[in-house]
Amino acid sequence: QASRSAGDPLILPPGINSQSFKDFIGKAIDIVGEDNVTVINDAQQLGKQSYLDPSKVHDMFYIADEDYFVSSAVVCPRNVQDVQTILRLSNEFEVPLWPFSVGRNVGYGGAAPRVPGSVGLDMGKNMNKILEVNVDGAYALVEPGVTFAGLHDYLVQNNLRDKLWVDVPDLGGGSVLGNTIERGVGYTPYGDHWMMHCGLEVVLPDGTLLRTGMGALPDPSADPSLPADQQPANKCWQHFNYGFGPYNDGIFTQSSLGIVVKMGIWLMPNPGGYQSYLITIPRDEDLHQAVEIIRPLRAAMVLQNVPTIRHILLDAAVVGDKKAYSNSDKPLTDVELDAIAKKLNLGRWNFYGALYGPPPVRDALWQVVKASFSAIPGAKFYFPEDIPESKVLQIRHDTMQGIPSMDELKWVDWLPNGAHLFFSPIAKVTGDDAMAQYKVTRQRCEEYGFDFIGDFVVGMREIHHIVCIVFDRKDPKQRRNAHEMIRTLIDDAAKRGWGEYRTHLALMDQIADTYNFNNNAQMKLNETIKNALDPKGVLAPGKNGIWPKTYDGKAWKV
Ligand code: ADP
Repeated sequence: QASRSAGDPLILPPGINSQSFKDFIGKAIDIVGEDNVTVINDAQQLGKQSYLDPSKVHDMFYIADEDYFVSSAVVCPRNVQDVQTILRLSNEFEVPLWPFSVGRNVGYGGAAPRVPGSVGLDMGKNMNKILEVNVDGAYALVEPGVTFAGLHDYLVQNNLRDKLWVDVPDLGGGSVLGNTIERGVGYTPYGDHWMMHCGLEVVLPDGTLLRTGMGALPDPSADPSLPADQQPANKCWQHFNYGFGPYNDGIFTQSSLGIVVKMGIWLMPNPGGYQSYLITIPRDEDLHQAVEIIRPLRAAMVLQNVPTIRHILLDAAVVGDKKAYSNSDKPLTDVELDAIAKKLNLGRWNFYGALYGPPPVRDALWQVVKASFSAIPGAKFYFPEDIPESKVLQIRHDTMQGIPSMDELKWVDWLPNGAHLFFSPIAKVTGDDAMAQYKVTRQRCEEYGFDFIGDFVVGMREIHHIVCIVFDRKDPKQRRNAHEMIRTLIDDAAKRGWGEYRTHLALMDQIADTYNFNNNAQMKLNETIKNALDPKGVLAPGKNGIWPKTYDGKAWKV
C-alpha cells in the first residue's frame, strides 16, 4: 500500500497505471460531474455492512478477503447518454466497468465487481424514474434505480393498488430491473420476473443504443433528430416480447453484453380477492410426499403463485437468533429441531401459499389444496387470522400479494456478525429430487459446522432450492468453511446432474465450468458473442464465468 501514489485507489484497474487512472477519472468527471464520481482510496470506504444502507463499492458479505472484490471508483451516470459516453471512454482507456443498479444483490456479491479495481457504474443513483405505469396494459416501464418498494409505493400513492400489484422478492429494497435481469424470483403468480419482463433498452459495449422486441420498430411520430433514448417507443413495446427475428433479450440476463437502461415489467391485475395460508408439515421425511402433492397442482396452476416450502430453521431464524433457541455451537440435531418446531407451533417443513380471486374461485381452489395436503398425516392448515402470533405467516401474507417487506433480513442474524451466501441448485418437482438435494446439502452443512437453513421455491416445472449459508463474517475459519463448503456442494451437485441458477462472484467460474455439455459448446458460443460485441473486454469481464479474449480467466481464479 505504501507504494500507492497520491490519488490512487486501493486497487487500480488491471493494466492501468496511476496516470491513466487519473486521466480516466478526470474525463469521467467531465462527463457526469464531480458529485457523481468517487475514487475508493481509503479502507474506511469499505465500512458499510447493512442491507438497509448497502455498500456500492465492495461485497459486504465477503467470503474472499474483505478488500478483494472492491471497485477502484464508482461513477454514477445521470442519463442514458452519459452511459454511452462512459462506455466509449472505458473502451478508449480499456478500463473495465461493472454496472449495478442498486447493489442489494446480497449473498451473490452485492455491488462488487468480479475483477478487483473495475470501475463500478452505479446505474441507480440518478436513473431511478418510473417512466410509465399503464393501467389498461398492466405494465410499468422503469429505470435501473427503481426498487420494488418504490414501485409498490408509487401504486399506493397513486391509488392504483386496487388495479395493479407488483411482484416482490423476499426483501423489497433491490432494483426491479437488476433483479429481473439476474433472473430473480418473487412469490405472487408473477414470481418469475424474467418471464414477466417485456422490452429492454440496452447500451451495447460500444455505446450503441438498442431497443429489443417491438421496440426495434420505431414509433411513426418519433422525431429522428432526438437522441435515440428520448424517442417515443413503439406502442407495443411492453405488450409483445418477441418482435421479429431472433429473440435477443435473453443474452442480456446474467450477462456482460450490455447495460440495461430501461425495462418493461408486467404488473399483475388486482385479482379481486386474496387469501394466504400456511400448511405445517410435521416430519422431516414428509418433504417427499409434500413435493409429490405440489407437482401436479402447480403445473395445472391450482397453486396459482410461487409457493415455498421452508425448513423450520428458516422460520425460526426470522424470529430469533441461534442463542434464543440453544446454547449449542454445533449444528442443531433432529431432536432440537423438533423442539423448536413445537415451541413455534410449526412443522419441520412449512408450506406458504396463497389463493387469488373472488370468494367462489378461492373456495374452489382451497378445497382442492386442502384435500390434497390432508393426505400428509398431521398436516395442519392456517390462515393468518387464525394465528396472529405467527410472524412469518404475517410476512408472507404481505409478500405473496406484492407488499414489500424487510423482515426477512432477520435470519441473517442467526449467528453474530451474520453474513450469508446462497447455494441455489435447481431441482425437478419430485419427492426424490427434493429429498436427495436436502440430504446432500444438509449433510455437507453439518460436516462444515453449519445449520441447514433453506427453502424450496416452486416454479412452474422446477424448484429453486435455496440453501442460505449463514456464517460469522468476522470469523475467518467460518468464512473459509463457507467458501470451501459451497465449492464442494457445486461439485456434489454437478456429479448428480444438478446445476445452480445464479451465484456469488467467487463461484462464477466453477459453476460455469459445470455447464460444459459437448466440449463446452455453450461457453464457446458465449465467448464468441462476447468478443464480437466487446472486443476490448471492458464490460463486466468474468461475469458468470465468461472471460473476454483480453483476459486470462485462469489468472483471476479466487
Ligand atoms: P439488486 O437489484 O439486488 O440491488 P444489483 O443492482 O446489485 O441488484 O444488480 C445485480 C447484478 O445485476 C449486478 O451485479 C450486475 O451484474 C447486474 N446488473 C444490475 N443492473 C444492471 C444493468 N442496469 N445493466 C447490466 N447489468 C446489471
